[in-house]
Amino acid sequence: MKEYFNDIRPWLIAGPCSAESEEQVLTTARALKDFGVSVFRAGIWKPRTHPGCFEGIGEKGLPWLREVQEQTGMKVCTEVANASHVKACLDAGVDMLWIGARTTSNPFLVQEIAESLSGTDVPVLVKNPVNADLGLWTGAIERFRAQDVRNLGIIHRGFSTFDKIRYRNAPHWRYAIEMRTRFPELPFFCDPSHMAGSTEFIAEISQRALDLGMDGLMIESHCRPQCALSDASQQLTPSALAGLVGSLTVREQVAGNDDALDGMRARIDAVDDDLVRLLAERMDISREIGNYKKERNIAIIQSARFEELLGAAKKLGATYGLDGDFLVRIFNMIHDASAAEQNKIISEK
Ligand code: PEP
Ligand code: MN
Repeated sequence: MKEYFNDIRPWLIAGPCSAESEEQVLTTARALKDFGVSVFRAGIWKPRTHPGCFEGIGEKGLPWLREVQEQTGMKVCTEVANASHVKACLDAGVDMLWIGARTTSNPFLVQEIAESLSGTDVPVLVKNPVNADLGLWTGAIERFRAQDVRNLGIIHRGFSTFDKIRYRNAPHWRYAIEMRTRFPELPFFCDPSHMAGSTEFIAEISQRALDLGMDGLMIESHCRPQCALSDASQQLTPSALAGLVGSLTVREQVAGNDDALDGMRARIDAVDDDLVRLLAERMDISREIGNYKKERNIAIIQSARFEELLGAAKKLGATYGLDGDFLVRIFNMIHDASAAEQNKIISEK
């Protein structure tokens, strides 16, 4: 897959969520080419969550991708979700394919696509499934390999969640690292656009992905994001994308680096991320409780409740071999911070 990208790190795949018109595709592609993007993406068939939304331009858009190849020299890449998409793409000379999150979740479709690509060298990037199931993600790679589809890569685009989080899809970096450990030979990309859901968070997510040693980024870019027919809020203009990429720090692979230690540190960092996110979520709930208590004039400290919570944590901790005193110390700190926050709420006029 290396030959599809120039030498600059990170490898960049960029382009609109959807191909909408020939003019939009070509205007965006020309600008991206000027900023050093190697592979142009554009969705031709769009798997939309709700009916009645723009579901992609369909095969009519494939000649536009051919124009991009001819006019800019960039490679082109689109999403396939069944065997007839694959056939249309191969006939049209599309260089690279990706499997969307909703498709990776469906083994019937992955099998169908894998069979339709059997024995080919066309690069296929497999996004994570919508739900945080490493088995499905791994299973998709296995299905392609079983059909001798040789040129594979992986994309982490985050997992959908019912929890209220900053982003559209939760980046479970631990899972990404685990996939990387399972398939160390496969190029690994991050799609910060679908993770973020908003242009606001794309830089921080991209930096995180690079810090974890990912090879490339797939970022959505549209010449007029505000008019985009899908994912308008997360698409950057080509020049904003160039600015963002220029602001990223690429971690040098220093000779003599200890890969094993780096790998373990990356895992620790990912767990710490989850810890911070969970603490923030806990604090949000605690504030909600604070407001509830205030309205009903209920005392903040309910010691029986805390004892009960501590007992449950110690019992659960023991099943994981965690020291009871350690948990007591941590929960006391969490409880103190939470009570202080509720006190603040109660004392507000
Ligand atoms: C996309 O890349 O436009 C897309 C639909 O992505 P995902 O499958 O990650 O939702
Ligand atoms: Mn999109």
